[in-house]
Amino acid sequence: MILEIKKFPAPILRKKCEGVKEVTEEIKNLGWDMVETMEENEGIGLAAPQVGELKRVIIVQMEKGPEVFINPKILKKTRETEIMEEGCLSFPGLFLKIKRAKGVEIEALDGAGEKVKIKAGGLPARIFQHEIDHLDGILFIDRISFWQRLKLKL
Ligand SMILES: [Zn+2]
Repeated sequence: MILEIKKFPAPILRKKCEGVKEVTEEIKNLGWDMVETMEENEGIGLAAPQVGELKRVIIVQMEKGPEVFINPKILKKTRETEIMEEGCLSFPGLFLKIKRAKGVEIEALDGAGEKVKIKAGGLPARIFQHEIDHLDGILFIDRISFWQRLKLKL
C-alpha cells in the first residue's frame, strides 16, 4: 500500500519515535508499505514518521535493494566526515550539502525481526544517519548553518 508522505512543516516530523517492542505483523506490513512508498516516490531512504507513524522503523536503499531496519542504533561513526548533497522526501525539490560521518556501524532488527549488525560506508552510511535522525525529530535542515537556514527561510 502506498502511504502519504508528510511534508515539512508537518508537526509529526519533529516528534521522537518510540522503540518497537515486538516485530508484529503490523510492523512487518508497515515495513513493506514503506518500501513500496519509497520506491513509488523514487527515494533512497524513508523513516516511519514521514508516513505518520511514530515508530523506530526506517528503509535504507542498500546495494542489493531497499531494506527494512527496526530500532536502528549507531554503534560507531568514523571520525572522518564528508560533505554530500542530500534530499528528503519530506522536502520536495530541496537539496542541501550536509557533512556526515563517512562510515557507520549499525545495530538493528531486520524486516523479519532478526538482529543484524552492519558496517556501512558511502551512500548507505549517509542514508542511515539521515533516517535515524528522523526518528529523533531531527531534519537535514538542522544540520546546516544558521546563516544558510536564514537564507533558505526555513
Ligand atoms: Zn528525510
